Amino acid sequence: MAKSPENEHPHKSFGWAATDTSGILSPFHFSRRENGPDDVAIKILFCGVCHSDLHTVKNDWGFTTYPVVPGHEIVGIVTKTGDNVKKFKVGDRVGVGVIVESCKECECCQQDLESYCPKPVFTYNSPYYDGTRTHGGYSDFVVVHQHYVLQFPENLPLDAGAPLLCAGITVYSPMIYYGMTEPGKHLGVAGLGGLGHVAIKFGKAFGLKVTVISSSPNKEFEAINKLGADSFLLSTDPAKFKEAIGTLDYIIDTISAVHSLNSLLALLKLNGKLVTVGLPSKPLELPVFPLVMGRKLIGGSNFGGLKETQEMLDFCGKHNITADIELIKIDQINTAMERLVKSDVKYRFVIDVGNSLSTS
Ligand code: NAP
Ligand code: ZN
Repeated sequence: MAKSPENEHPHKSFGWAATDTSGILSPFHFSRRENGPDDVAIKILFCGVCHSDLHTVKNDWGFTTYPVVPGHEIVGIVTKTGDNVKKFKVGDRVGVGVIVESCKECECCQQDLESYCPKPVFTYNSPYYDGTRTHGGYSDFVVVHQHYVLQFPENLPLDAGAPLLCAGITVYSPMIYYGMTEPGKHLGVAGLGGLGHVAIKFGKAFGLKVTVISSSPNKEFEAINKLGADSFLLSTDPAKFKEAIGTLDYIIDTISAVHSLNSLLALLKLNGKLVTVGLPSKPLELPVFPLVMGRKLIGGSNFGGLKETQEMLDFCGKHNITADIELIKIDQINTAMERLVKSDVKYRFVIDVGNSLSTS
């Protein structure tokens, strides 16, 4: 008979899990595996709340197995290292992102592109190689193979830095791969949430002109005055949209819901590139005409490999890039999720796991 989540591994663990498609999270007892020779045990201090957590707890994508403890923007302190671990020591500040294992043999893994491995083990909602389920960072501690653990820059705060582990790398990686970094070029950031607001910061660090494309008029002032965008385009204002046609070199599309690509493609110049990183629950329509007539490209990208994630963290350390966050206690998570549904976030919720998660 299969063991219960609480008894399948030797170490008791505690977190908050969703147990059905309502997506409502509640306290959950489970267990973590023994720390193996290549493993690092991490006491979790903070965990960002990604929209992918929300998609997962609601089963938007149709592959959630309940109960699930979400959270893949994990930062904390190393509490134990296996015998083969040389890169980390007890007390180190570290991070864990979206992936905790991959096959290590395929072409993707060999090229430091573990996030594209055909047999990935995600940080949560994944079968682990031993047949048990993975659980994420809305919990007290985690045990992770050293290869999937990142050194966190010394000069960055752990709470505001946590979102870099997913939001950060998910926008940094396509900007590098698709060459969206040429100083002076004009970047559009569609959707001003967790991913979008970090994309503005990378855009400015690369020397780009940045325009935010948003459906929320109340985000305009801060986009310009706090986050450093050069301009703001309200997607519900057709007159302004018309003026902006053909002005952008690149767009990074972080919108979490189904939306039209037509109007976004119209904003691109000849040879413009639109990269979608958002993962709406249903397919988007592909408007072929503007693509063909403007020799435009649409691409996709995920959360990047481990080497690149470390490079991104180091880049953020150098340029002092972190997220703008709203720190919450774990018992505020259901309200935070409701607000995320309504795009009511400035700009990432981060759970103060270390100070608010308790079994009592
Ligand atoms: P988020 O913080 O909720 O931001 C998404 C933004 O999209 C919202 O703030 C809103 O911006 C806009 N939006 C939402 N609903 C909309 C609608 N109906 N019409 C127009 N705009 C809408 O989410 P996030 O954490 O940044 O994640 C964004 C998406 O990326 C999610 O689908 C997530 O699953 C996905 N994701 C993908 C990867 C990957 O590997 N590719 C990694 C992480 C996340 P405005 O208020 O400005 O309109
Ligand atoms: Zn994420």
